[in-house]
Amino acid sequence: MNVYELIKKKRDGLKLSATEIGFLIDGFVKGQIPDYQMTAFLMAVYFSEMDSAECIEMTMAMADSGDRIDLSAIKGFKVDKHSTGGVGDKTTLVLAPLVAASGGIVAKMTGRELGHTGGTVDKLESIPGFQVELPKEKFVDIVNDIHVSLISQTADLAPADKKIYALRNVTATVDSIPLIAASIMSKKVAAGSDGIVLDVKSGRGAFTRSYDDAVELAKTMVNIGEGLGKKVIALITSMEQPLGHAIGNSVEVLEAIDTLRGEGPQDLVDLIMELGGDMLYVSGVGANRKEAKSKIAERLRNRGGLQQLKKLIVAQGGDPIVLDNPEMLPQSVTKIEVKSPAAGYVSVIDAMEVGLASKILGAGRQTKDDLIDYSIGIVLKKKIGDKVTAGEPLAVFHSNGDKEKIEAARNKFLAAFSFSPQKVESPKLVLARVTRHGVEKL
Ligand code: URA
Repeated sequence: MNVYELIKKKRDGLKLSATEIGFLIDGFVKGQIPDYQMTAFLMAVYFSEMDSAECIEMTMAMADSGDRIDLSAIKGFKVDKHSTGGVGDKTTLVLAPLVAASGGIVAKMTGRELGHTGGTVDKLESIPGFQVELPKEKFVDIVNDIHVSLISQTADLAPADKKIYALRNVTATVDSIPLIAASIMSKKVAAGSDGIVLDVKSGRGAFTRSYDDAVELAKTMVNIGEGLGKKVIALITSMEQPLGHAIGNSVEVLEAIDTLRGEGPQDLVDLIMELGGDMLYVSGVGANRKEAKSKIAERLRNRGGLQQLKKLIVAQGGDPIVLDNPEMLPQSVTKIEVKSPAAGYVSVIDAMEVGLASKILGAGRQTKDDLIDYSIGIVLKKKIGDKVTAGEPLAVFHSNGDKEKIEAARNKFLAAFSFSPQKVESPKLVLARVTRHGVEKL
């Protein structure tokens, strides 16, 4: 087979076979196909796209480029959840223990920050002692024991995706629906769960900004997953503004704990109810979606999810003292109020800009080897629709005191806000559900 001919074929809008896609992925992972040819191929996909069969073949080839996690030693239906990435998105920290407490089984591999978005692994590591890297046998044992474990994606999980993503990141080929879909689904398929609930974000802080693109991405991923024998549901949810109030690492862990205590922000609670209901429903727990959701609500009410989080922290070597003594989580050197420059109703909080502001403050990495200061972050005091007077705090920065960073972050943060003299509705959060039966607007 000839790489040049395959690039040309895709450039000209023709369909590639399973063997041809396998040849490209395998050759690239083995170092036989150079970066410049893979880049040309990715750009050809960007413009010519891929059909459903090609997406499935690409996903399988990428999933098979490394280890597939064998979860057969765990009895029962295993359910995974994946967000396409957002700002203040701490849902996994709440959902994983809550779903386990409600009768589901969650064996989840999770990632670190990506671009302007945060990563669950970084958030978990802000819990003193919590181990995100565990041998596979221990991961399986924990899930069999307490029905939930959260670990970091192993280096050998879909290595083709790691290599291809690094190229896409520097060649303007990230925002391609077939490439995003194959990237996400290859990791989900390799991670071995039986069902997957996808949270596909749309809006200013999402990789797919428009609703239509988010639906298209959701349909593509549902199609890939179902084609590979998984049960898949996708929710389209708004990432117009950050989710909840906290953006960072330890501040998000604290908000997740508060939510499991029954004191969470309403948007986060609403999202948890929808995603959790679907995770249980797809697992066959509850006769219908309504019953599944009421189980989630019950475990939130009776703090069953909080108890499960305690078990999870203990099982993975962390100190559960943080649940009752939040001051044991990493604390920032200083807290600074960011005051509103205007009066009125908050009409825009650009989630992407707020995510970037929190990274400037120090909540993220500048280079991939940087160590994160887990204590740094932003806690919003106002959300879209809230009334504000000039000089009233819009947020509190949790900072290490670096004045230059604080000023740069403040400028970025304030630029994310717009105000209106008229009352503003807060944006709808859960927009649609996509299954193999079609798109249901919510
Ligand atoms: N998240 C991924 O894992 N891959 C993409 O391509 C985009 C978001």
